[in-house]
Amino acid sequence: MEGHYVMDKKIIGVDLGGTTIKFAILTKDGEVQQKWSIETNTLDEGANIVPDIVGSIKHHLKLYEMEPKQFIGIGMGSPGTVDRKNGTVTGAYNLNWKTVQNVKQVIENETGIRFTIDNDANVAALGERWKGAGENDPDVAFITLGTGVGGGIVSNGALVHGTGAAGEVGHMNVEPNGYLCTCGNRGCLETYASATGVVRVARDMAEEFAGDSQLKKQLDDGQEITAKIVFDLAKKNDILAKMVIDRVCHYLGVACANISNLLNPSFVVIGGGVSAAGDFLLNNVANHFEKYAFPSVRKTTHLRLAQLGNEAGVVGAASLALSLE
Ligand SMILES: [Zn+2]
Repeated sequence: MEGHYVMDKKIIGVDLGGTTIKFAILTKDGEVQQKWSIETNTLDEGANIVPDIVGSIKHHLKLYEMEPKQFIGIGMGSPGTVDRKNGTVTGAYNLNWKTVQNVKQVIENETGIRFTIDNDANVAALGERWKGAGENDPDVAFITLGTGVGGGIVSNGALVHGTGAAGEVGHMNVEPNGYLCTCGNRGCLETYASATGVVRVARDMAEEFAGDSQLKKQLDDGQEITAKIVFDLAKKNDILAKMVIDRVCHYLGVACANISNLLNPSFVVIGGGVSAAGDFLLNNVANHFEKYAFPSVRKTTHLRLAQLGNEAGVVGAASLALSLE
């Protein structure tokens, strides 16, 4: 009769962000069975974050009447610089973490479940690759357009880490001597294609623009402009907004083509808040991509919109734990 009680072990995903921490319990096949979230408490240099994660996992296991031995492991995505071997995080400034955090050691000791960690953009790439637009293909590149621009590269079925900082798509140079980036360099993709980048391009192009445009009017009136407003006006054929979006999509097309000419993935998946502009964004980027992609790459690499939204992180984080089996 004991076979009756044998259950496939589960995995836990944790997506640590600056405002919320998302959790999910998944089957090994990636089916989300439970999910919940808590607020990120960044007070006291983020000293409560890891204890809060531990407390929340323990609380929910009790709630679902589950035990540590029923889990293969916990996978987590974190901002900052992640040391995957030691399971530590440094320099996650949106969490107020100023010193090295022994995340793995504390979580394993306190929960009795094995733990593994990678950076937040990489786990989102894994999520989209596994259960989203990537169709579980072994070669998928992921770009996320949000407050910043992040990314992750899956090549030959594995995340590309290089010596630690691979996949920094946001800091690909798309315009030598272009806008100054927070990283100290000039012309990074992030300075044009992030939510703030789009607004920056709009302001600069409005300075040079003399025609009839709602966007120009709103900027001249001192109204607050967002990337969404620029995209919405472009969709309504506002001439300046269309020029701004075309310029942004040009840079995205250059970046997608450069990634693809190097790695020839099956899919380049575009996600993040700015990608809510949907096919309007995707088709425009694809037009520029076609210009810069190597001919055989043009035929074999396909651009796609992300499908998992903000669930990508927690799903991809959980998939990290599969390596612990
Ligand atoms: Zn940069």
